[in-house]
Amino acid sequence: MAATSHASVKSRDAVSTLAGRWPLLGQRRPLVVYLCAIVALDLFAILLFAMSTDFRLRDLLTFAALMGCGMVCIEATRRLGVPAGVSRDLLSAWWLPVALLLPPIYALFAPIVLQVLLQIRVRATVLYRRVFSSAAIGLAGCTASVMFHHLVDDPWVLSKGSGAPITFAVVAAVLFSLLNIGLIAIAAHTADPDMPWREVLWDRESVLLDIVELCLGVTVSIGCGLNLALLVLALPPVVLLQRSLLHAQLQAAARTDAKTGLLNAAAWQREADTEIVRARRTGEALALLIIDIDHFKRVNDAHGHLVGDQVLVGVASTLRSQLRDYDVVGRFGGEEFVVLLPGADAHEARRVAERLRTHIGHMAVPADDTLIRVTISAGGALMSVHGDDLIDLLAAADLALYRAKELGRDRVCIPTAQPPPPRSLPKDTTP
Ligand code: GH3
Ligand code: MG
Ligand code: MG
Repeated sequence: MAATSHASVKSRDAVSTLAGRWPLLGQRRPLVVYLCAIVALDLFAILLFAMSTDFRLRDLLTFAALMGCGMVCIEATRRLGVPAGVSRDLLSAWWLPVALLLPPIYALFAPIVLQVLLQIRVRATVLYRRVFSSAAIGLAGCTASVMFHHLVDDPWVLSKGSGAPITFAVVAAVLFSLLNIGLIAIAAHTADPDMPWREVLWDRESVLLDIVELCLGVTVSIGCGLNLALLVLALPPVVLLQRSLLHAQLQAAARTDAKTGLLNAAAWQREADTEIVRARRTGEALALLIIDIDHFKRVNDAHGHLVGDQVLVGVASTLRSQLRDYDVVGRFGGEEFVVLLPGADAHEARRVAERLRTHIGHMAVPADDTLIRVTISAGGALMSVHGDDLIDLLAAADLALYRAKELGRDRVCIPTAQPPPPRSLPKDTTP
């Protein structure tokens, strides 16, 4: 019954984490303060380490070789495109060796180099997001580097194969991941305080990818220490992994509504159809809800479309947090959402719809020094009562939604019986 209702790979990259969730820089002062503080800390660290670093030729060559690999990786996957909003890459495979093998200043520079390339060659996004991303990765890498160099006198002994330096390298890599996740999660939570911490921090797919990145980073570091030329052997598998990762994300993005992260209409219909066929076969109850934001045009008219978009994102996030994993929720279009509730009878469907209505009614989206509140109307239809296929259920729920609007909005309407068929007209008896 596991119908995933949103994209499965969450981003650990600030650029995509903040995309869409927070397009209006002027609206969230705490977030501005936080981003500025992280960037200032990064600049301070660059100054501090630049003054105390002895720039040696071997280090510069290693840095250039690793950045070259990162650039080849970016160029080799560039043509595949990048999914909007959520994206993951395997660039840690290159900046982790920088952090482990070279003095900390290089870990601060590495993300700047690759983020500039991403901005120019892959996707030109809002600059502050790239700057923050570089600063967050740079600070995480720099801290991991300081820790590793503190524990191991000569980082190049990593390639001698003894246990202790490799263990310390793994610990430093874990620290790098945790700090990066932490810095970005704080930004995401400040951007959207309603989002539960668990949702910001924990995602099985992302953790799996973090582990892959960690293993790649430590392995590349060991190879790099043996002989810089071994990078030529490491590059093709990393590029291949990066390409398949992007491909999987693009496939997921094709199912997802970019604005809200919910399923798009086509993907929702496919998944809903599967559930309906299953319910028909097993005889289980099933309900369908269509949810429409009330007077949404007024929000756009009063505050602009970008704020309207924030409201859509907020409603989507509330829907997701209030539904079970196997409920199928999608954006049907505009300010309309659809929810399929497998196993739900009339009583359960009404209970869920009322819960959604109450939670969305309590939601407040900040804009122009005010808080925007919206209400929703919902129409529901029940399997076997209003129809046995998706078309019939959608038509019945749409009719119920229309009724909810007619009765004054901010309400749920789920008729418990099939509306009587229109009475047939008396036969025309005129000759
Ligand atoms: P009702 O209570 O009858 O549903 O009124 P309403 O204003 O919500 O409905 P109406 O159909 O008149 O307007 C829907 C509005 O939704 C108009 C359209 O501009 C807006 N809209 C549709 N898609 C988007 C979107 O992606 N972003 C934003 N900001 N607005 C959107
Ligand atoms: Mg509406
Ligand atoms: Mg509508």
